[in-house]
Amino acid sequence: MSILVTGGAGYIGSATVELLCERGERVIVLDDLARGHRGAVPAEVPFYHGEIGDEDLVRRIVREHGVESCIHFAALAYVGESVEDPARYFRNNVAQGLRLLDALLAEGVKRMVFSSTCATYGEPVQVPIPEDHPQQPTNPYGWSKLMMEQIMRAYDRAYGFRFVALRYFNAAGATRRCGEVHEPETHLIPNVLAAAEGQLPYVAVYGNDYPTPDGTCIRDYIHVADLGEAHILALDYLRRGGASDAFNLGNGQGYSVLEVIETARRVTGKRIEVRFEGRRPGDPSRLVADATRARTVLGWRPRYGDLETIIRTAYEWKLAHPRGYDS
Ligand code: UDP
Repeated sequence: MSILVTGGAGYIGSATVELLCERGERVIVLDDLARGHRGAVPAEVPFYHGEIGDEDLVRRIVREHGVESCIHFAALAYVGESVEDPARYFRNNVAQGLRLLDALLAEGVKRMVFSSTCATYGEPVQVPIPEDHPQQPTNPYGWSKLMMEQIMRAYDRAYGFRFVALRYFNAAGATRRCGEVHEPETHLIPNVLAAAEGQLPYVAVYGNDYPTPDGTCIRDYIHVADLGEAHILALDYLRRGGASDAFNLGNGQGYSVLEVIETARRVTGKRIEVRFEGRRPGDPSRLVADATRARTVLGWRPRYGDLETIIRTAYEWKLAHPRGYDS
């Protein structure tokens, strides 16, 4: 029996594939490579270049490889892009996601670990954010993920489809094989490290007039290997017959943009220039997880919790891969 990993060539997907392989699981990757990197998937893992909405392809993969569960990462994930082109986000993340669910169900696969996001909560009314916090996304990306959660909830009741939605806070850091490379890169830590390496002249800090101690936004950074581990625990939970559920994944500790930059200066020993710019639309001032449920129900214990370790692993990967996966 094997596990179908959609989006297994992406940042969090590839890190999870790496952990699954180390654990001796049989893994199949399906990825359209719109945002992922072929080089992020180990050569020995069967790889299908295709769409998650290609029902014939998904059904064939399930039959040929005896797929018993799916870990579904494949999605577009830029907030700004989703505001500008919502059609693309709803088509890709929801319409295609729905076809994936239907293809899996048609072949009798009723277990999914789903990549969700803290963006499903919208502007927090309570921080740290627990799972039962109101879900009122402020952008189409967040809505697309929330819609998938709702669809799966209905599929659970109607068809016995069991899922775990993992609501990530800010994924960061790198494993031995897998690091963060987006094109274009919009994320803070990769941009800070690019500035440290002289690939960017400075880090643009989006807003220093937020109601936070230093005026910059606070986020909960979580190491990509800890995220990967949570997917494996969620899969084990479903295999044990666990009920459908949602879990936050974060360290429960927030760092401001300026604290991230200061830590990166310490880790890299480099000068990192900063330029303050206007706020980025849709950025909440403070997102911090209450991840107690993942600890108590799944037994999740993040191992790379401190920011310095997270940034150090990202920096080591960057030094080893100066031009990303093409290095
Ligand atoms: N940010 C920034 N400069 C950058 C990239 C991000 O100031 O070059 C800020 C961004 O406004 C947010 C935080 O850093 O407050 C984290 O942003 P990121 O895009 O990494 O993750 P998000 O929280 O949007 O998922």
